[in-house]
Parts: sequence; C-alpha cells; structure tokens
Amino acid sequence: MTTLIRNARVLTMDGAGTVHERADVLIDGAIISAVDPAGIETGAAELVIEGAGHLVMPGLINAHFHSPVNHLKGSLPSLPLEIFMLYETPNLDAAAASPRDAYVRTMLGALEMLRTGVTAVQDDAFFVPAPSPETIDAVLQAYADCGIRARVALDQPNVPELEKLPYLVDLLPAPLSEALAAPPALDAAGLLACYDHLIATWHGYDGGRLRASVSCSAPQRVTPDYFRALDDLSRRHDLPFYVHVLETRLQRVFGLERLGGRSLVRYIHDLGLLSERLNIIHGIWIDDADMDLIAASGATIAHNPISNLRLGSGVMPFRRLRDRGIPICLGTDEAIADDAINMWLVAKMAGLIHNLSDPDYERWPSADEVLACLIGGGARAMRQQAAIGQVAPGFQADLILLDLDTSAFTPLNDLARQLVYCELGGSVRMTMVAGRIVYQDGRSTLVDEVALRAEARELGSRFAQAKAATDRSAAELLPYYRQMYLKAARTPVGMNRWVGGDEGKAT
Ligand SMILES: [Zn+2]
Repeated sequence: MTTLIRNARVLTMDGAGTVHERADVLIDGAIISAVDPAGIETGAAELVIEGAGHLVMPGLINAHFHSPVNHLKGSLPSLPLEIFMLYETPNLDAAAASPRDAYVRTMLGALEMLRTGVTAVQDDAFFVPAPSPETIDAVLQAYADCGIRARVALDQPNVPELEKLPYLVDLLPAPLSEALAAPPALDAAGLLACYDHLIATWHGYDGGRLRASVSCSAPQRVTPDYFRALDDLSRRHDLPFYVHVLETRLQRVFGLERLGGRSLVRYIHDLGLLSERLNIIHGIWIDDADMDLIAASGATIAHNPISNLRLGSGVMPFRRLRDRGIPICLGTDEAIADDAINMWLVAKMAGLIHNLSDPDYERWPSADEVLACLIGGGARAMRQQAAIGQVAPGFQADLILLDLDTSAFTPLNDLARQLVYCELGGSVRMTMVAGRIVYQDGRSTLVDEVALRAEARELGSRFAQAKAATDRSAAELLPYYRQMYLKAARTPVGMNRWVGGDEGKAT
C-alpha cells in the first residue's frame, strides 16, 4: 500500500527542526519514503489524502502508562501514592481479571490514545495477583487489534509488601504485619517464565509494532537477584527497563531508613544496574548527586506531571536534569492517577509547572523543548529513536493529521506553542501507525468502539462490587499507613520538591 498526503503543513521533528509550510508526504508500506515541498507525483500512490489546511506531524508517544486500571478513571480522590495504592490494589478475593477483562480495559485506553493522536505507548502492565500467559496475551492482543505501537513490560514485585515501605513493621499489629509479610503470588522464576512467554510470543509482532520491555516496578519492590536477572534480560534483547524511582518523599525516607542512608538512585548504581536502557520513572526526590549518576549512565527520565499533581508527589527538577543533558520523555502514568489519558494535557502541564521552579524565566521550558520531550524523548525511551518520532524518509509512518481550521490554531500565530498550550486532541483527524490508518474522523477503523464501551460499562459495574471489598481491606490498614506517611513527612530529607511549603511541614 502506498499513501500520498498532499499539500499539508509538515512538522518533521527532525534534528534541524524543519517545518514545511506545504509539502507532500509519500508512505510506502510502513515507511515514509519521501517528504517533498516541491510536490510528489500523484500517480505514485494508491491512496491520496488531501492535506491542505492540515498539519502532518509525528504521532505522540505516551512513554509511561499502566493499562490495568484503564477502567478506573475518576474512581479515587486525590491521595498520596502510598495511601492511594491501598485503594488501587484490589482485594485479592475480588481481583481476578479474566483475559477478556484484560483485553477490554487495555483496548479502552488504547482507543482513547489513538483518538487524540498517540501512536506509541509504553505499557508497564501489572497483574493482580500475578500474570499468566492468558492475561499477557489478552493485553497484547488488544494492542495488536487496535493498531497502536506498543511496548509492554510486566510490572510485578517479588518481595512482600512489608519490605517495600519504611516504619510499617513497627507500626502494624501482628496479624496485619504477618499478612503483609506474605510473599507475592509468583516468585522470580515464575515471573521470568512469564517474560519468556511475552518475548517468545509477542516481541517483534507485526514488523516490530509490538515489543517487550522489562520492569522491576521499583528497586525496593524486588530482590537484587531478580533485579539483576531483569537487567540481563534487558541487555540480551536490548529492551527498555522501567523502574519507578523516588516518586515520593517517603521513598527518599526509605533510603535513609532501609538502605543505610543511600538514595534509591545510589542503590541502583551500587548494584551496577544504572544503564542507558533504564526509564527512570518520575525522578522527583532526587538530589544533585543522583542527577550526576543518572547523567553518567545515559538513562532517560519519564516525566508524568499530571500524575505527580494528582498524587501530590512533587515537582521533578526539570531544568537541572536538562542542564546535565539527561533525556526526558513524557507519560500519563495510569488512568487512575491521570484520569484523562491525554498526552496533550500532559505536554501542556510539562510546559507550565516548571515555571514555578525558577525565577529566571530563561530557564523555563519552551514549547519546542516540550515537543522534543514528547516525541523525540519518547522515541529514545523506547530505544527506537532511529525508527520513530520524525516525518522523514526511512522512518516508520507513525503520523497524525491535525485540522488547522479549529479554535486551537485560529489564527495560527506560533505552531509549537499552539500545539503545547492550545491543542487538547480535538483537532486530530487521522492517526496512522506503520503506514496503516487506524483512526479517522473520530472513529477506529479496526474496532467496534460502541460494543467495546458497552463491555467496559459491564466491567465497571462488576468492579463496583470488588471496590467495596478493596475499601474494607484498605480501611483496616489505613490508620497505620497514615502514621507511616506522616512520620516520613516529618523526617528531614534535605530537599523540597513540594510547592510553597517548608520541608516536612505536613503534620
Ligand atoms: Zn507508573
């Protein structure tokens, strides 16, 4: 199949920042074969799309996401992560998701992304109580069917809950403490067998559209041996490695209490596992020494500003990371913590929140810089920067077509700023992944969305029953978790990543 998009404005996102006011784009199979301001012969294409009045640009990349809670948007109030997770993790008796449930909820989020022009996602998928080949297949099948580009990892801890948090062992009464000391459902060998299945079955599917990644969830949630085994898997297959690091102040305290005063970044470094394959997710409560270690490793930081606000986690030190040349990509995080799954909103937030961090306005993020994080940063995090993220010959045809006859772009004053500060996804008319049109004029070309949403509503009503059981389990633990949280909030950590308040002010 060859497709020609004619007479469009083209934001190439190439290294030189080229924007064509008018150009033709030829797509041959999955690949962009030509971008020519002088025009391309129409006869060369089987499908011709008139692009006048439209913008062609690379699709957006959601570089950090967790699909298993796609059906839970809006279901929780704003809470700090450690309290939030009590309500997020389903009561085990009520938790079991069927493969069809996993398929439906994955598809729900994927369609929302495609509708607003996201062409690639990194899904750090977790499974309660544990992954199985059937549920892994269901997640990947949803991505296969809707046409999006995806990398999927299995975000599973292999240490008991009690070991992941400070203070809790001293705060909890014995019966609760014993329950939280129970090991997770699958041990390291079982989890690695699941990775074998994921990689053997799906890594490289459809010309490489679907690929595996690895995830340890967070360094304090896995044993050093399992952490090393995942790093080995990542190295052997050249896979991105997702690791949540210092998302919260309490995690900084964890290092003081449980790692001999070391930060979690230093801990990863001491294990010899800081690498350029790492996606360091959040990176908020990091200090200058941590930033130096991350810069030396070549790792990417995955920035999720809306999730960070929703959970009150703090403000990532954007400029200090960029000063060190540390690559940054953007993500929504999970739909229960950034309820909209909208990368335009994430980009806008990334373009705004850091203005509060520095009185020197020359150090605030520019719109061009935010777009570079959104697209080029995402491609790098995925380890696919030579293949996606540019409208240029030889790159995958992961493109979106935006209508410029919309309020976001009328009148057109500055394309980059209007993309970051005005557009929310409503101008996206067509989403193409690997040369295939997967979303057009507000509809999936591949999936019956009306039927899917009906099934998602049914899933939602079943979840309401499970939520009641989860809330009862959470209520039992809440007083102790609150004590832990407040004790950590009062413990000095030598930095502040909250806005306005003094360090440790929360009481
Ligand atoms: Zn996350």
